[in-house]
Amino acid sequence: MNSSPSKQPKQAGASKEAQRKALSPKVKQLLYVRAGGRCQLCQDYLLESDELGYYEFNRGEMAHIVGQSLNATSPRSDFPLAKELRDDVENLMLLCARDHQTIDKAIEEGNFTVELLRELKREREAHIKHVTGIPQNHHTCIVRLVGRIRGNIVQVTRPECNSATLHHHPARFANFALDYHRQGVEIDITMLGEPEENPTYYQTAQLLIDREIQLIRQGVERGEIAHLSVFGFARIPALVYLGFQLGNKVGTTLFQRRRVDAKHWHWLREAPVQPFEWELIQRSPQVEKVALIINVTGCIHRWELPDNIDDTFNIFLLKPTGIDPHADAVLTVESLDQFRQTYRQLMAYLESKHKSVDQVHLFLAAPTAVAVACGLDLMPHAQPTLLVYDRMPRKFTAALSVN
Ligand SMILES: [Zn+2]
Repeated sequence: MNSSPSKQPKQAGASKEAQRKALSPKVKQLLYVRAGGRCQLCQDYLLESDELGYYEFNRGEMAHIVGQSLNATSPRSDFPLAKELRDDVENLMLLCARDHQTIDKAIEEGNFTVELLRELKREREAHIKHVTGIPQNHHTCIVRLVGRIRGNIVQVTRPECNSATLHHHPARFANFALDYHRQGVEIDITMLGEPEENPTYYQTAQLLIDREIQLIRQGVERGEIAHLSVFGFARIPALVYLGFQLGNKVGTTLFQRRRVDAKHWHWLREAPVQPFEWELIQRSPQVEKVALIINVTGCIHRWELPDNIDDTFNIFLLKPTGIDPHADAVLTVESLDQFRQTYRQLMAYLESKHKSVDQVHLFLAAPTAVAVACGLDLMPHAQPTLLVYDRMPRKFTAALSVN
């Protein structure tokens, strides 16, 4: 780690060379392996160059985090670290020439401190170790559904999906098999506006979803798709519809956008697992009349239901156990599994105790993955149709039916 060459006396070149030679082959090997042969800042692959034709040579530079010299001639060398630890692999980063220069120059502005470089190195090396341990056949096909939700659109980018599936357990490499002919998301319904202003919103959304599902089914039949990862950000009825149409033919992981940090689509690993329960909140002898309120992120009250859900209905409520519904009720995939288990139990109960019911009126205040799960976990044919309502903007209106 030397400051810029222009500031060095003439002899510096020679001493720089001497310092590099001092690094043991073992340290060098460790550093290159941990870095995966890539710059630990820009991720450029350093063992070849194709800028002026293709060449195989080593462009990597081994940069000291705390400068090698104790006498403050190299950047960050005043940081307390014993002399014998300065040539240790823990104090080195593999960098391209440009980034090496940048971190040394930026030190004058107080950027790229020892703490920051150590953190970047740690993250990068953990990432390389993680991804190189994933079996090569662990692929997943990304399914993205993006629509407007009351004026909001979020990006569901390829890197975000990739990062979420790589850091899920079990980890998988993201494939974008179905959008080879375009750059955008697989199912983009943002151009439909919102159902409040577009009377054919759900009709068109269903057609767009069906078209893409057809492609997925063909991919599954051809054996090209063995696993799906679903990233949905759209109005609730569209998500339920997507879930149902996806069905259970191949393993599917549902992802959900969180607002709390930059890793929007990562499930949390450490949050507590939230159980769920259901109860009958209005009983009626007319067993064929059933409505279901699912309150996960918010509360839909009995009095908010539309007039057609009258006293002749049996109304069930599914909610988190022991807490009031709130925005972060489902932060882990285990909590989502708890929800799905309870939902499937309730559906099985309806199937057996309300045999004559052919339609369940569904009211959902739930995060996106829960909405997709409500469609995904419905048994085709055996279980009743779901008539899914949307809140627009204040009163609930039937949006679409599935099954
Ligand atoms: Zn670089």
